[in-house]
Amino acid sequence: MLEIAALEKRFGDTQVLRNINLRVAPGELVFVIGPSGSGKSTMLRCCNRLEEPTSGAIMLDGQNITGCGAQALNRMRLQLGMVFQGFHLYPHMNVLKNVMLAQEKALKRPRPEAQARAMAMLEQVGLAHKADAMPSDLSGGQQQRVAIARALALDPKVMLFDEPTSALDPELVGSVLKVMKDLRQAGMTMLVVSHEMGFAREAADRVIFMDAGVVVEEGTPDQIFGAPKMARTQEFLSRVS
Ligand code: ATP
Ligand code: MG
Repeated sequence: MLEIAALEKRFGDTQVLRNINLRVAPGELVFVIGPSGSGKSTMLRCCNRLEEPTSGAIMLDGQNITGCGAQALNRMRLQLGMVFQGFHLYPHMNVLKNVMLAQEKALKRPRPEAQARAMAMLEQVGLAHKADAMPSDLSGGQQQRVAIARALALDPKVMLFDEPTSALDPELVGSVLKVMKDLRQAGMTMLVVSHEMGFAREAADRVIFMDAGVVVEEGTPDQIFGAPKMARTQEFLSRVS
């Protein structure tokens, strides 16, 4: 379980997150929506301390990520798989090596084990046949699925997604969302920032609406999309859908 408790983030004088409280239960897919600049990415980045929270706590299965030193932090970061808008694959390595590298370097997995795990994860995202390809020979959707396989290969407890389909041509979005749906089906715990409202309706357990650094409203997809209570939520949804 991932727990965000009383999280605050300031950049200088600018308060970007205010008293964010959010739990993602095991196997739950929590979906975060909100206008540009509302703090969605900052919240995700605070979870693994890519941004240092100003105050509050991030807990993963009862372990405090916010309180721990550098070594423990490195260990805990491995348990939070992160997928960004850009894919950040190593351009000079083939797909298989991309999925093996962190397993060998960070988890110290022996090469044969790392390779077997990489192939299994590529299978899971439908790209085992591209193991020998270079990233530049793949479509954006395929590259993003490799990035997901790479994160999964480290056996994370939670997957964090920050607009994983925003950089993709529309016809490539579906293949990535399909992989995310499969993951949910397989019981992965997921915190997803995205504008894919259709996906949220289908696959999210809960939807969080953020605006100006606060959680304005949360509920089931039916509640948030069908009958939002807060005026700010209604106004946002009328603009995006
Ligand atoms: P988008 O939908 O455009 O991705 P977002 O909801 O992810 O937006 P954030 O990127 O979290 O929003 O940004 C929230 C606020 O924090 C913005 O006002 C942004 O300008 C500010 N911000 C983010 N990172 C920094 C930084 N490193 N230094 C100063 N301000 C920052
Ligand atoms: Mg963002």
